[in-house]
Amino acid sequence: MKIKKNDSVIVIAGNDKGKKGKVLKILPDKGRAIVEGVNFVKRHTKPRKQGQKAGILEKEAAINLTNLMAICTKCDKGVRVGTRILADGKRARVCKSCGEMLDKE
Ligand SMILES: [Zn+2]
Repeated sequence: MKIKKNDSVIVIAGNDKGKKGKVLKILPDKGRAIVEGVNFVKRHTKPRKQGQKAGILEKEAAINLTNLMAICTKCDKGVRVGTRILADGKRARVCKSCGEMLDKE
């Protein structure tokens, strides 16, 4: 998986193109992710209990992983992610532009 929970990502396609946010959740089965502040959808809510107000709830909807790119803090932009095998055999995700390590797996 190139993109993981808590990654900073940028949207590269769709209505929210150019928006940045943090990955809140990955939905691997669907190939989608929920990104903080991205792809808001409005849901009209009806009062279910007495005293509860009807209203519009805004919530992030899942966005296709192919529309997202991980942000490299060094490049300060969305980058392609590669994998490097470290000396100790662990795999690390790296920025393909500058080689900066994004994390250790
Ligand atoms: Zn980079």
